Amino acid sequence: MEILANYINGELIPPHSSNYLDDINPAIAEKFAEIPLSDEEDLRLAIASAEKAFPAWSGLSAKERADYLMKISNLIKDNLEELAVAESTDTGKPLQLAKTVDIPRAASNMEFFAHAFTQFSSESHAGKDSINYTLRKPLGVVACISPWNLPLYLFTWKIAPALAAGNCVIAKPSEITPYTAYLFSKICMEAGLPNGVLNILHGTGPEIGNAIVQNKKIKAISFTGGTATGRKIAEISAPLFRKVSLELGGKNPALVFADCDLEKTVDGLVRASFTNQGEICLCASRIYIEESIYEDFKNRFVEKVKALKVGNPSKQANNMGALVSAQHLEKVKSYIDLAKKEGGNLLCGDEDIELDEETKNGYFLRPHVFENLPNQCSTNQEEIFGPVVSLNVFNDEKEAIALANESEYGLASTIWTNDLSRAHRIGNQIETGIVWINCWMNRDLRTPFGGMKNSGLGREGGLEALRFFTEPKNICIQY
Ligand code: NAD
Repeated sequence: MEILANYINGELIPPHSSNYLDDINPAIAEKFAEIPLSDEEDLRLAIASAEKAFPAWSGLSAKERADYLMKISNLIKDNLEELAVAESTDTGKPLQLAKTVDIPRAASNMEFFAHAFTQFSSESHAGKDSINYTLRKPLGVVACISPWNLPLYLFTWKIAPALAAGNCVIAKPSEITPYTAYLFSKICMEAGLPNGVLNILHGTGPEIGNAIVQNKKIKAISFTGGTATGRKIAEISAPLFRKVSLELGGKNPALVFADCDLEKTVDGLVRASFTNQGEICLCASRIYIEESIYEDFKNRFVEKVKALKVGNPSKQANNMGALVSAQHLEKVKSYIDLAKKEGGNLLCGDEDIELDEETKNGYFLRPHVFENLPNQCSTNQEEIFGPVVSLNVFNDEKEAIALANESEYGLASTIWTNDLSRAHRIGNQIETGIVWINCWMNRDLRTPFGGMKNSGLGREGGLEALRFFTEPKNICIQY
């Protein structure tokens, strides 16, 4: 059993407290590693090493920093198998998904931002008697805090732009899925990343997470996680006038019109609803279907959902693995009970799961589909973050938009139609930061990524991330 360590000043070191937390493999419900419980003293060391590293790191050219990021990217690719097994073991997600999505994307994140910063430019404004130009300086020591659902994928999505722009980083992965962040520290050591440029602290949100957020030396926080946590971070950061980027929860609508390609839509929405056990902030969870095709859509959708295989994540035949923890499984089950109480008609989900001997105690749940739920009920309004979706009816485009927008969240939406004008019209009116038309999770890393309303503040990706991690300074010269 592996005992994980913090990564501080280029070294792997045990936590000051000597206390550890169990890291559980959710597919077999057994402990497989121990996670450091870091405290203020570990943070003090990490910040001191980051501050010491900052002048030299920020003084390198963009190309020199990019070379380190590219080395890390290549090492992620070289270690794909080990990282994918670790990610699947820690999260319960299918190994095949970790191999084809999570880990390749972590390598792409490092590569993309390595190149992006070498191509980054700032504005100049020529006037009648003067010219202004903008410098974009790194901020100093910044924090990156990430969640459990796409562990290495989201961890590197934050760290890469922060480092490429010349900042030094204190990073905290989720205490529920810390393993690939630990392997990532070893990769950074192998790549020769200078000491203190990146520091990875393990531990819980309320303890080390909160200590990071409270620390005034942290110049910016890039956070992905729940809306309630994001609100706390915003409250603490506001009086410090500190930059925050908050990528929070979602309750994503899908609008299905009678003129869509039905076969493609059903396939697309089965994927959008249940990939990674529905534990992706972008997953569809409220599906609105035009009345004239409701029954047809429902029958085809439910048939395909029933055919999904749930079980041992290391078996390629399985489409869905285990939920991330016993606690999360209980939370999702409580929403299923609530949906029934709210009058929902369960179309599928209560079938038996056939588990092999190895995974018989794991936290598995079949995909659940409900219908007949009012738009204002908890099932249609609160983020469940698991394999539960509702099917709902609409009569016309106006009603579809109103139902989709009746939500506190505004992260992502999907629109399924072959009417080009309608696609543009709804794309313009729907209140989400990301709109996918006839597709889902089609990602170009140059685009702004994030949500509106309670789904967050600010955007990640491309230029948005590079602007976030730099401070603009205007210089004016009179002719
Ligand atoms: P969470 O908010 O509980 O935890 C996220 C991270 O914050 C963890 O590392 C945790 O330890 C830390 N944390 C918790 N309390 C903290 C505190 N008081 N101060 C500082 N740090 C603290 O979220 P989670 O359960 O890990 O993740 C699930 C949530 O993340 C869902 O709501 C999901 O929608 C959201 N999410 C959003 C996106 C996005 O891009 N918008 C992507 C993935 C997940």
